[in-house]
Amino acid sequence: MSEERSLNFIEEIVEEDIREGKNDGRVLTRFPPEPNGYLHIGHSKSICLNFGLAQRYNGKTNLRFDDTNPVTEDTEYVESIKNDIAWLGFKWDKELYASDYFDQLYEFALALIRAGLAYVDDSTPEEIAQQKGTPTEAGKPNQYRDRSIEENVQLFEAMKAGTYPDGAKVLRAKVDLASPNMLLRDPIMYRIKHAHHHRTGDKWCIYPMYDFAHGQSDSIEQITHSICTLEFVPHRDLYNWFIEKLDIFPSHQYEFARLNLNYTVMSKRKLLQLVKEGHVESWDDPRMPTISGLRRRGYTPASIRDFCERIGVAKRENIIELSLLEFCIREDLNKTAWRRMAVLDPVKLVITNYREGQEETMHGENNPEVEGGDGGRDIPFSRELYIEREDFMEEPPKKFFRLGVGLMVRLKNAYIVKCENFVKDPDGKITEIHCTYIPESRSGSDTSGINVKGTIHWVSVPHAKTAEVRLYDRLFKVEDPSNEEGDFKEYLNPDSLQIINAFVEPDLLNAVRGKGYQFIRKGYFTLDTTSTPDRPVFNRTVTLKDGWSVNQKGKS
Ligand code: ATP
Ligand code: MG
Repeated sequence: MSEERSLNFIEEIVEEDIREGKNDGRVLTRFPPEPNGYLHIGHSKSICLNFGLAQRYNGKTNLRFDDTNPVTEDTEYVESIKNDIAWLGFKWDKELYASDYFDQLYEFALALIRAGLAYVDDSTPEEIAQQKGTPTEAGKPNQYRDRSIEENVQLFEAMKAGTYPDGAKVLRAKVDLASPNMLLRDPIMYRIKHAHHHRTGDKWCIYPMYDFAHGQSDSIEQITHSICTLEFVPHRDLYNWFIEKLDIFPSHQYEFARLNLNYTVMSKRKLLQLVKEGHVESWDDPRMPTISGLRRRGYTPASIRDFCERIGVAKRENIIELSLLEFCIREDLNKTAWRRMAVLDPVKLVITNYREGQEETMHGENNPEVEGGDGGRDIPFSRELYIEREDFMEEPPKKFFRLGVGLMVRLKNAYIVKCENFVKDPDGKITEIHCTYIPESRSGSDTSGINVKGTIHWVSVPHAKTAEVRLYDRLFKVEDPSNEEGDFKEYLNPDSLQIINAFVEPDLLNAVRGKGYQFIRKGYFTLDTTSTPDRPVFNRTVTLKDGWSVNQKGKS
């Protein structure tokens, strides 16, 4: 964490608490994912905040799975969540499950019933909603609200024993039917659900609601700062009510603005739809805003942590530009990625004064940003090369510092060449560019005295290897697909994935999984998880420049 920046508002609260000696100066946070999907970049903000606070203030962070809804949860998700947090570089203190507290929560519920603060209600969900009133009109009590304590205890025990079908009864807290906060109008604590739970199996057929599980779990663990997103502000009164009435450890809830990113969606429900309906390949499709998708795309943990640090912790909702995330990965990869050459849209260049059959070995640094170049590799050079089609123009405009008849350019790590002429096929497509090279201009020992403005990349034809290259664009065509009319999936970008075959320099066959490579002038790439030695597959993590905003401006 950078020490120069000012404290965010949650750090200020924590420092104040430490100064006042609250909780004996102890800081214990938790990250509470519901295991009903893969983590996304929004979660990483909550992870960085919770684990970051603990790191900064010598505290700890629990990983607590909020597994109170048996129907949507799965152990596959539990494993992916643990994997993603560890990959981001954080260590949790304890791995816990809200379901571990089911017995304790049941006892808490009985205690509230015995205190006359909870009752079993037989009403249908519609009746309950209707009796709740409106924000301007108080709710009305029904006949069940005055059940005796004995009857409530007996009915709740029968609910637990499996006597009733799903939805027949609920347990409600007796709070205040006239409260201006609708969540305090006798909220539901338990519902009947005859469902198999991924951890407790068939032991339970009643499950606690979020509001009657979250705060109590915090309290059981003696969490000092329970941090959640702004939509939970109205839940805070209820959070405090349960803790006060149960007279248990007073955890406190603090809320911050969730992370929203443009050109994507960030709800697990929506991401699940994209996977299930085949709009993307999987949860870790490199176009997904999931941690696993970003990892497969070539994002690094450091870049994601840097992003979370830069956006800060706000009290008001806003939308963050995807381009900021891209900026962060460029910053990181610029320092670490090895430079390599790959030609994505090839045209042949023939050096007419270079002897046929002759070969040379050029040398290229791995990364000029690193002292000493971070090592290097050999690059075979010969008479015939592939270059990018766009690096030649038949009628080049002024200031085109690449190739056109009469123009000179440096071939990266090799010689200066001068374009003499070109060959077209009957359809007018350019098939060959003919150049001469200047033997004295070899990189590293250039005595030619010639200065050229442009440098282009190339791959030697007889040495070129083929790789599949996947180029990604934004997943959605619009900034905020969830806020558009109709279904969000209508706004998917049909061109979000382009697959091509590229010619790459032979050393790229030694590429290792998880490492970033800069294909010179083309962007940062990483090996895809489906890559094999016979058939390398590279994902483009990000282009070298934010070309997208430039293109958009050009279009308008
Ligand atoms: P989703 O809306 O994607 O289903 P959720 O809030 O239901 O997300 P949880 O698994 O309950 O997902 O979230 C775990 C923690 O991560 C919670 O504390 C939640 O507030 C936080 N979180 C979820 N989404 C974001 C986000 N976009 N920005 C910041 N924190 C988030
Ligand atoms: Mg949630």
